[in-house]
Amino acid sequence: MKPLAWRLPWREGTVPHAVLDICRGCNITCRACYNAAPAEFRPLQDIEADLDRMLALRRLSSVTIVGGEVTLHPDLCGIVSRVKQRGLGAEVCTNGVLLDAPYAARLKAAGADIIYVHIESGQERPDLPKSASPAAVRALIEAKADLLHAQGLDAGLLVTVFSETSAEIVEAMRVTLESPHINYLLITLYRDTGAIASVTGSLAGGLRGRMSRPAVGQPDPVEGVTRTADLVSRELGLQPFAYVGSNADAGNPRWLSYLVGTARRRDATLVQHCLRASLFERAFLWLSLRLSGRYPMYQAQDPRRFRVQLLANALTGGRLRGNLGFLAASRHDRAGLRAKRLLFQNPAFVAADGRVVHCSPCADAVLKEGRLVPVCICDRVALGSGSA
Ligand code: SF4
Repeated sequence: MKPLAWRLPWREGTVPHAVLDICRGCNITCRACYNAAPAEFRPLQDIEADLDRMLALRRLSSVTIVGGEVTLHPDLCGIVSRVKQRGLGAEVCTNGVLLDAPYAARLKAAGADIIYVHIESGQERPDLPKSASPAAVRALIEAKADLLHAQGLDAGLLVTVFSETSAEIVEAMRVTLESPHINYLLITLYRDTGAIASVTGSLAGGLRGRMSRPAVGQPDPVEGVTRTADLVSRELGLQPFAYVGSNADAGNPRWLSYLVGTARRRDATLVQHCLRASLFERAFLWLSLRLSGRYPMYQAQDPRRFRVQLLANALTGGRLRGNLGFLAASRHDRAGLRAKRLLFQNPAFVAADGRVVHCSPCADAVLKEGRLVPVCICDRVALGSGSA
Protein backbone atom coordinates (compact mmCIF):
# COMPACT_ATOMS: atom_id res chain seq x y z
CA MET A 1 0.00 0.00 0.00
CA LYS A 2 1.28 3.48 -0.91
CA PRO A 3 2.15 5.41 2.26
CA LEU A 4 -0.34 8.17 3.09
CA ALA A 5 2.36 10.66 3.89
CA TRP A 6 5.90 11.11 5.19
CA ARG A 7 6.70 8.85 8.11
CA LEU A 8 8.44 11.03 10.68
CA PRO A 9 11.97 9.93 11.62
CA TRP A 10 11.29 10.20 15.38
CA ARG A 11 12.45 7.37 17.62
CA GLU A 12 11.67 6.75 21.30
CA GLY A 13 14.68 8.78 22.50
CA THR A 14 14.43 11.52 19.87
CA VAL A 15 10.70 12.23 19.75
CA PRO A 16 10.78 15.93 20.69
CA HIS A 17 7.64 16.13 22.81
CA ALA A 18 6.09 14.78 26.01
CA VAL A 19 3.21 15.65 28.31
CA LEU A 20 3.42 17.12 31.78
CA ASP A 21 0.52 15.93 33.91
CA ILE A 22 -0.13 18.44 36.71
CA CYS A 23 -3.54 17.74 38.20
CA ARG A 24 -6.81 15.89 38.22
CA GLY A 25 -10.25 17.39 38.69
CA CYS A 26 -12.19 19.62 36.31
CA ASN A 27 -14.83 22.37 36.31
CA ILE A 28 -16.78 21.04 33.32
CA THR A 29 -18.01 17.67 32.01
CA CYS A 30 -17.10 16.32 28.57
CA ARG A 31 -18.69 13.43 26.73
CA ALA A 32 -15.31 11.70 26.64
CA CYS A 33 -12.61 12.18 29.23
CA TYR A 34 -9.76 9.76 29.84
CA ASN A 35 -9.19 11.17 33.35
CA ALA A 36 -10.31 8.62 35.91
CA ALA A 37 -8.18 9.48 38.95
CA PRO A 38 -9.46 11.52 41.95
CA ALA A 39 -8.98 15.31 42.00
CA GLU A 40 -5.53 16.46 43.14
CA PHE A 41 -2.96 19.19 42.41
CA ARG A 42 0.58 17.89 42.15
CA PRO A 43 3.22 19.90 44.03
CA LEU A 44 5.72 21.98 42.06
CA GLN A 45 8.75 19.95 43.14
CA ASP A 46 7.18 16.70 41.86
CA ILE A 47 6.37 18.36 38.54
CA GLU A 48 9.95 19.65 38.24
CA ALA A 49 11.25 16.14 38.97
CA ASP A 50 9.03 14.83 36.14
CA LEU A 51 10.41 17.46 33.79
CA ASP A 52 14.01 16.54 34.56
CA ARG A 53 13.29 12.82 34.23
CA MET A 54 11.57 13.39 30.86
CA LEU A 55 14.55 15.44 29.70
CA ALA A 56 16.82 12.52 30.65
CA LEU A 57 14.65 10.09 28.64
CA ARG A 58 13.95 12.24 25.56
CA ARG A 59 15.57 15.04 23.58
CA LEU A 60 12.62 17.33 24.12
CA SER A 61 11.85 20.58 22.32
CA SER A 62 8.54 21.24 24.00
CA VAL A 63 6.07 19.86 26.51
CA THR A 64 2.33 20.16 26.78
CA ILE A 65 0.88 20.84 30.21
CA VAL A 66 -2.33 18.89 30.82
CA GLY A 67 -4.65 17.79 33.65
CA GLY A 68 -7.53 17.64 34.70
CA GLU A 69 -8.24 21.30 34.14
CA VAL A 70 -4.87 23.03 34.43
CA THR A 71 -6.19 26.54 35.17
CA LEU A 72 -7.48 25.19 38.52
CA HIS A 73 -3.90 24.44 39.59
CA PRO A 74 -2.84 27.27 41.92
CA ASP A 75 0.69 27.38 40.42
CA LEU A 76 0.13 26.94 36.68
CA CYS A 77 2.20 30.02 35.84
CA GLY A 78 5.06 28.78 38.05
CA ILE A 79 4.95 25.45 36.19
CA VAL A 80 5.07 27.22 32.82
CA SER A 81 8.10 29.23 33.91
CA ARG A 82 9.90 26.04 35.10
CA VAL A 83 9.33 24.58 31.61
CA LYS A 84 10.77 27.71 29.98
CA GLN A 85 13.76 27.75 32.35
CA ARG A 86 14.73 24.40 30.81
CA GLY A 87 14.73 25.86 27.29
CA LEU A 88 11.52 24.12 26.23
CA GLY A 89 8.44 25.30 24.40
CA ALA A 90 5.46 25.52 26.78
CA GLU A 91 2.08 24.41 25.43
CA VAL A 92 -0.97 24.49 27.70
CA CYS A 93 -4.28 22.60 27.28
CA THR A 94 -7.36 24.05 28.96
CA ASN A 95 -11.12 24.02 28.61
CA GLY A 96 -10.86 27.82 28.66
CA VAL A 97 -13.65 28.48 31.19
CA LEU A 98 -11.35 30.46 33.50
CA LEU A 99 -9.30 31.88 30.65
CA ASP A 100 -9.89 35.63 30.66
CA ALA A 101 -7.56 38.44 29.60
CA PRO A 102 -5.74 38.78 32.98
CA TYR A 103 -5.15 35.00 33.20
CA ALA A 104 -3.87 34.92 29.59
CA ALA A 105 -1.57 37.86 30.36
CA ARG A 106 -0.12 35.97 33.35
CA LEU A 107 0.47 32.88 31.20
CA LYS A 108 2.20 35.03 28.58
CA ALA A 109 4.38 36.66 31.25
CA ALA A 110 5.33 33.19 32.54
CA GLY A 111 6.50 32.29 29.02
CA ALA A 112 3.67 30.16 27.57
CA ASP A 113 3.89 29.79 23.79
CA ILE A 114 0.52 28.38 22.83
CA ILE A 115 -2.76 27.73 24.60
CA TYR A 116 -4.99 24.96 23.28
CA VAL A 117 -8.66 25.41 24.13
CA HIS A 118 -10.84 22.33 24.38
CA ILE A 119 -14.27 23.59 23.34
CA GLU A 120 -16.78 21.37 21.56
CA SER A 121 -20.47 20.59 21.44
CA GLY A 122 -21.86 18.28 24.12
CA GLN A 123 -19.77 19.69 26.97
CA GLU A 124 -21.51 20.78 30.16
CA ARG A 125 -19.87 24.15 30.81
CA PRO A 126 -21.03 27.46 32.30
CA ASP A 127 -20.28 29.53 29.20
CA LEU A 128 -22.35 27.47 26.70
CA PRO A 129 -25.75 25.77 26.79
CA LYS A 130 -25.46 21.96 26.56
CA SER A 131 -27.25 21.86 23.22
CA ALA A 132 -25.29 24.80 21.80
CA SER A 133 -25.45 25.24 18.03
CA PRO A 134 -22.27 24.86 15.96
CA ALA A 135 -22.39 28.65 15.45
CA ALA A 136 -22.41 29.26 19.24
CA VAL A 137 -19.53 26.80 19.75
CA ARG A 138 -17.56 28.53 16.99
CA ALA A 139 -18.25 31.96 18.49
CA LEU A 140 -16.86 30.88 21.87
CA ILE A 141 -13.77 29.33 20.24
CA GLU A 142 -13.14 32.50 18.27
CA ALA A 143 -13.65 34.71 21.33
CA LYS A 144 -11.01 32.71 23.25
CA ALA A 145 -8.63 32.80 20.27
CA ASP A 146 -9.04 36.59 19.99
CA LEU A 147 -8.39 36.97 23.70
CA LEU A 148 -5.20 34.86 23.44
CA HIS A 149 -3.98 36.74 20.38
CA ALA A 150 -4.53 40.07 22.14
CA GLN A 151 -2.07 38.91 24.83
CA GLY A 152 0.52 37.77 22.24
CA LEU A 153 -0.24 34.05 22.64
CA ASP A 154 -0.66 31.52 19.88
CA ALA A 155 -4.00 29.62 19.89
CA GLY A 156 -4.82 25.97 19.24
CA LEU A 157 -8.07 24.00 19.29
CA LEU A 158 -8.70 20.54 20.79
CA VAL A 159 -11.68 18.43 19.74
CA THR A 160 -12.76 14.83 20.40
CA VAL A 161 -14.88 13.11 17.74
CA PHE A 162 -16.96 9.97 18.08
CA SER A 163 -16.91 8.84 14.46
CA GLU A 164 -14.17 8.90 11.84
CA THR A 165 -16.68 10.45 9.43
CA SER A 166 -18.19 12.98 11.85
CA ALA A 167 -19.30 16.35 10.48
CA GLU A 168 -17.49 17.83 13.52
CA ILE A 169 -14.16 16.94 11.87
CA VAL A 170 -14.87 19.09 8.84
CA GLU A 171 -16.30 21.89 11.03
CA ALA A 172 -13.21 21.94 13.32
CA MET A 173 -10.88 22.00 10.32
CA ARG A 174 -12.84 24.86 8.72
CA VAL A 175 -12.85 26.84 11.99
CA THR A 176 -9.06 26.44 12.19
CA LEU A 177 -8.34 27.25 8.55
CA GLU A 178 -10.62 30.30 8.52
CA SER A 179 -9.54 31.70 11.88
CA PRO A 180 -6.95 34.49 11.87
CA HIS A 181 -5.54 33.31 15.22
CA ILE A 182 -6.00 29.52 15.60
CA ASN A 183 -2.93 27.91 14.10
CA TYR A 184 -3.02 24.39 15.56
CA LEU A 185 -5.78 21.79 15.69
CA LEU A 186 -5.69 18.44 17.46
CA ILE A 187 -8.59 16.08 16.76
CA THR A 188 -8.65 12.96 18.93
CA LEU A 189 -10.79 10.01 17.90
CA TYR A 190 -12.85 8.83 20.86
CA ARG A 191 -11.60 5.79 22.72
CA ASP A 192 -13.79 3.95 25.23
CA THR A 193 -11.03 3.89 27.87
CA GLY A 194 -13.63 3.01 30.52
CA ALA A 195 -13.65 -0.49 29.02
CA ILE A 196 -9.94 -0.92 29.80
CA ALA A 197 -9.65 -2.46 33.26
CA SER A 198 -5.88 -2.05 33.63
CA VAL A 199 -2.63 -1.53 31.78
CA THR A 200 0.77 -2.72 32.94
CA GLY A 201 4.31 -1.94 31.77
CA SER A 202 5.86 1.07 30.03
CA LEU A 203 6.57 2.37 26.53
CA ALA A 204 10.18 1.21 26.86
CA GLY A 205 9.41 -2.29 28.11
CA GLY A 206 6.06 -2.88 26.36
CA LEU A 207 2.49 -2.39 27.56
CA ARG A 208 -0.17 -5.00 28.14
CA GLY A 209 -3.81 -4.41 28.99
CA ARG A 210 -6.93 -6.13 30.20
CA MET A 211 -10.49 -5.25 29.19
CA SER A 212 -13.38 -5.29 31.66
CA ARG A 213 -16.00 -5.31 28.85
CA PRO A 214 -16.11 -4.83 25.06
CA ALA A 215 -15.45 -1.24 23.95
CA VAL A 216 -18.49 0.59 22.56
CA GLY A 217 -19.16 3.59 20.35
CA GLN A 218 -15.62 4.23 19.26
CA PRO A 219 -14.06 4.77 15.81
CA ASP A 220 -12.13 1.85 14.34
CA PRO A 221 -9.09 1.43 16.63
CA VAL A 222 -6.82 0.37 13.74
CA GLU A 223 -8.12 2.16 10.64
CA GLY A 224 -9.77 5.22 12.23
CA VAL A 225 -7.17 7.77 11.16
CA THR A 226 -6.92 6.39 7.63
CA ARG A 227 -10.70 6.64 7.25
CA THR A 228 -10.60 10.19 8.56
CA ALA A 229 -7.95 11.03 5.95
CA ASP A 230 -10.36 9.77 3.26
CA LEU A 231 -13.09 12.07 4.62
CA VAL A 232 -10.77 15.07 4.75
CA SER A 233 -9.61 14.42 1.18
CA ARG A 234 -13.19 14.11 -0.03
CA GLU A 235 -14.68 17.08 1.86
CA LEU A 236 -11.80 19.54 1.97
CA GLY A 237 -9.39 18.33 -0.72
CA LEU A 238 -6.51 18.17 1.79
CA GLN A 239 -3.78 15.52 1.79
CA PRO A 240 -1.74 14.54 4.86
CA PHE A 241 1.81 15.77 5.37
CA ALA A 242 3.36 13.39 7.92
CA TYR A 243 2.48 10.53 10.22
CA VAL A 244 3.61 8.27 13.04
CA GLY A 245 2.85 4.55 12.84
CA SER A 246 2.11 2.06 15.59
CA ASN A 247 4.16 -0.39 17.62
CA ALA A 248 2.27 -3.18 15.81
CA ASP A 249 2.60 -1.77 12.28
CA ALA A 250 5.00 1.07 11.51
CA GLY A 251 3.10 1.76 8.26
CA ASN A 252 -0.31 2.18 9.95
CA PRO A 253 -0.87 5.89 10.71
CA ARG A 254 -2.15 6.58 14.23
CA TRP A 255 -0.95 10.19 14.44
CA LEU A 256 -1.45 12.08 11.20
CA SER A 257 -0.68 15.70 10.42
CA TYR A 258 -1.59 18.22 7.73
CA LEU A 259 0.38 21.36 6.94
CA VAL A 260 -1.83 23.96 5.24
CA GLY A 261 -0.91 27.49 4.20
CA THR A 262 -3.67 30.10 4.44
CA ALA A 263 -3.90 33.77 3.48
CA ARG A 264 -6.46 36.31 2.30
CA ARG A 265 -6.74 37.57 -1.25
CA ARG A 266 -7.14 41.28 -1.89
CA ASP A 267 -10.95 40.77 -1.86
CA ALA A 268 -10.60 39.07 1.62
CA THR A 269 -11.54 35.59 0.36
CA LEU A 270 -9.53 32.75 1.87
CA VAL A 271 -6.84 31.02 -0.16
CA GLN A 272 -5.40 27.79 1.19
CA HIS A 273 -2.83 25.29 0.02
CA CYS A 274 -1.83 21.94 1.43
CA LEU A 275 1.87 21.02 1.44
CA ARG A 276 3.37 17.66 0.56
CA ALA A 277 6.54 16.72 2.46
CA SER A 278 9.70 17.09 0.37
CA LEU A 279 13.43 16.54 0.63
CA PHE A 280 13.63 20.00 2.23
CA GLU A 281 11.70 18.96 5.37
CA ARG A 282 13.64 15.68 5.61
CA ALA A 283 16.95 17.58 5.39
CA PHE A 284 15.72 20.23 7.84
CA LEU A 285 14.88 17.65 10.50
CA TRP A 286 18.16 15.77 9.90
CA LEU A 287 20.16 18.99 10.26
CA SER A 288 18.19 20.09 13.35
CA LEU A 289 19.04 16.84 15.10
CA ARG A 290 22.70 17.05 14.11
CA LEU A 291 23.17 20.73 14.99
CA SER A 292 20.92 21.23 18.03
CA GLY A 293 20.63 17.63 19.24
CA ARG A 294 16.84 17.60 18.93
CA TYR A 295 14.03 17.74 16.42
CA PRO A 296 11.82 20.85 16.35
CA MET A 297 8.26 20.65 17.69
CA TYR A 298 6.16 23.74 18.41
CA GLN A 299 6.78 26.42 15.79
CA ALA A 300 5.56 29.98 16.16
CA GLN A 301 4.14 31.73 13.12
CA ASP A 302 6.77 33.33 10.92
CA PRO A 303 5.36 34.32 7.49
CA ARG A 304 8.82 35.04 6.03
CA ARG A 305 10.18 31.64 7.09
CA PHE A 306 7.06 29.93 5.74
CA ARG A 307 7.51 31.62 2.34
CA VAL A 308 11.07 30.23 2.23
CA GLN A 309 9.72 26.78 3.11
CA LEU A 310 7.08 26.99 0.37
CA LEU A 311 9.76 27.82 -2.18
CA ALA A 312 12.29 25.21 -0.98
CA ASN A 313 9.53 22.60 -0.71
CA ALA A 314 8.40 23.35 -4.27
CA LEU A 315 11.92 22.83 -5.62
CA THR A 316 12.68 19.61 -3.74
CA GLY A 317 9.68 17.37 -4.36
CA GLY A 318 6.65 19.32 -3.06
CA ARG A 319 3.77 20.55 -5.21
CA LEU A 320 5.67 22.93 -7.49
CA ARG A 321 2.74 24.55 -9.29
CA GLY A 322 0.50 24.52 -6.21
CA ASN A 323 3.13 26.15 -4.00
CA LEU A 324 3.99 28.83 -6.55
CA GLY A 325 0.30 29.49 -7.23
CA PHE A 326 -0.34 29.90 -3.48
CA LEU A 327 2.64 32.25 -3.10
CA ALA A 328 1.30 34.37 -5.95
CA ALA A 329 -2.28 34.36 -4.62
CA SER A 330 -1.13 35.31 -1.11
CA ARG A 331 1.22 38.13 -2.15
CA HIS A 332 -1.29 40.78 -0.98
CA ASP A 333 -1.36 39.31 2.52
CA ARG A 334 2.31 38.73 3.34
CA ALA A 335 1.86 39.46 7.05
CA GLY A 336 -1.31 37.35 7.27
CA LEU A 337 0.25 34.24 5.70
CA ARG A 338 -0.21 31.36 8.14
CA ALA A 339 1.16 27.81 8.40
CA LYS A 340 -1.66 25.81 10.00
CA ARG A 341 -0.87 22.45 11.54
CA LEU A 342 -3.79 20.07 11.85
CA LEU A 343 -3.35 16.77 13.63
CA PHE A 344 -5.39 13.61 14.13
CA GLN A 345 -4.68 10.95 16.68
CA ASN A 346 -6.16 7.52 17.24
CA PRO A 347 -5.58 6.68 20.92
CA ALA A 348 -4.11 3.42 22.18
CA PHE A 349 -6.23 0.27 22.44
CA VAL A 350 -5.92 -3.23 23.86
CA ALA A 351 -5.66 -5.83 21.08
CA ALA A 352 -7.26 -9.29 21.34
CA ASP A 353 -3.92 -10.80 22.48
CA GLY A 354 -3.62 -8.28 25.34
CA ARG A 355 -0.94 -6.16 23.69
CA VAL A 356 -1.50 -2.40 23.88
CA VAL A 357 -1.28 -0.90 20.39
CA HIS A 358 -0.18 2.75 20.45
CA CYS A 359 1.59 5.41 18.41
CA SER A 360 5.25 4.53 18.10
CA PRO A 361 6.90 6.63 19.21
CA CYS A 362 4.18 8.15 21.39
CA ALA A 363 4.64 11.92 21.21
CA ASP A 364 2.21 12.44 24.11
CA ALA A 365 3.85 10.22 26.67
CA VAL A 366 3.54 11.12 30.34
CA LEU A 367 5.42 9.94 33.42
CA LYS A 368 3.86 7.49 35.87
CA GLU A 369 6.22 6.45 38.68
CA GLY A 370 9.22 7.30 36.49
CA ARG A 371 7.93 5.33 33.48
CA LEU A 372 6.72 6.87 30.23
CA VAL A 373 3.23 5.75 29.22
CA PRO A 374 0.76 7.16 26.64
CA VAL A 375 -1.32 9.94 28.19
CA CYS A 376 -4.45 8.61 26.45
CA ILE A 377 -4.47 5.55 28.73
CA CYS A 378 -2.39 6.84 31.65
CA ASP A 379 -5.17 6.59 34.25
CA ARG A 380 -5.54 2.89 33.38
CA VAL A 381 -1.91 2.17 34.15
CA ALA A 382 -1.63 0.06 37.27
CA LEU A 383 0.76 1.77 39.67
CA GLY A 384 3.74 -0.32 40.77
CA SER A 385 3.61 -2.48 37.62
CA GLY A 386 6.39 -2.91 35.05
CA SER A 387 9.81 -1.30 34.96
CA ALA A 388 11.35 1.83 33.46
S1 SF4 B 1 -0.42 6.66 21.97
FE1 SF4 B 1 0.51 8.60 22.58
S2 SF4 B 1 0.53 9.92 20.75
FE2 SF4 B 1 -0.91 8.20 20.39
S3 SF4 B 1 -2.89 9.00 20.97
FE3 SF4 B 1 -2.04 7.95 22.76
S4 SF4 B 1 -1.00 9.55 23.93
FE4 SF4 B 1 -1.36 10.38 21.86
